[in-house]
Amino acid sequence: MIDVHAHLTDPAFIDLPEVIGRAKAAGVIAVVTSITDPADLPRAKEIIERYGGYVYLTVGLDPTLLSEEKLSAFRTALNAAPIVGVGEVGLDHFYVRESSLMETQERHFRECIKAAISLDKPLVIHSRSAGRKALEVLYSEGAERVLMHAFDGKSGDALAAAKKGYFFSIPTSVVHSEQKQKLVRLLPLESMMLETDSPVLSPVRGERNEPANLVHSARKVAEIKRISIEKVVETTFANASGFFRISV
Ligand SMILES: [Zn+2]
Repeated sequence: MIDVHAHLTDPAFIDLPEVIGRAKAAGVIAVVTSITDPADLPRAKEIIERYGGYVYLTVGLDPTLLSEEKLSAFRTALNAAPIVGVGEVGLDHFYVRESSLMETQERHFRECIKAAISLDKPLVIHSRSAGRKALEVLYSEGAERVLMHAFDGKSGDALAAAKKGYFFSIPTSVVHSEQKQKLVRLLPLESMMLETDSPVLSPVRGERNEPANLVHSARKVAEIKRISIEKVVETTFANASGFFRISV
């Protein structure tokens, strides 16, 4: 299995060597870690150097960091480390609700999409309380290699995006989230990947999440789709390695 979305630079991972050890023991053969603040780049570089060939990096910009300085630092960071994608970037209408700030957020999102396309890197998208809007922006910018992470929008919008070739990563919180379970029921396995979003979205509410928990997502998808866990692992692995162009 590949954990396509985690935040290993998070200070919660003070015991990172043990966390990586448990992930390997649990059958996770690669982790894509995402930074959302360019200030985290030095720590991310340390991690991908230490765990080369196991941890891969995407560089993004938290949609609530709305300064021009952060946007410019994000652009610099894209070229300052080996990356497998751009993200997470996107829209967040849960934390940002004021119209002028929402406009700035959309403008920054469009800049992030353009940057990914010009670098020929896939996009990992955050779209909290803004699923449909984020998809509309992506369509209008002509984005093709897209992974919607922990999508909280309508399943119908997700299905339309899947038909265009967009992917959806199913977080470990699927074990208790009705909305994520509905998403799994509707989407074809060919459009899915698996993620933990560690340290958040734990299968057990309130606990720190870690990549070793990825199997909870695989197991729940298999249960909902009434297929074997092997089939889930095989297909989501092929989707993830092709999408990020990772050969493990
Ligand atoms: Zn995340």
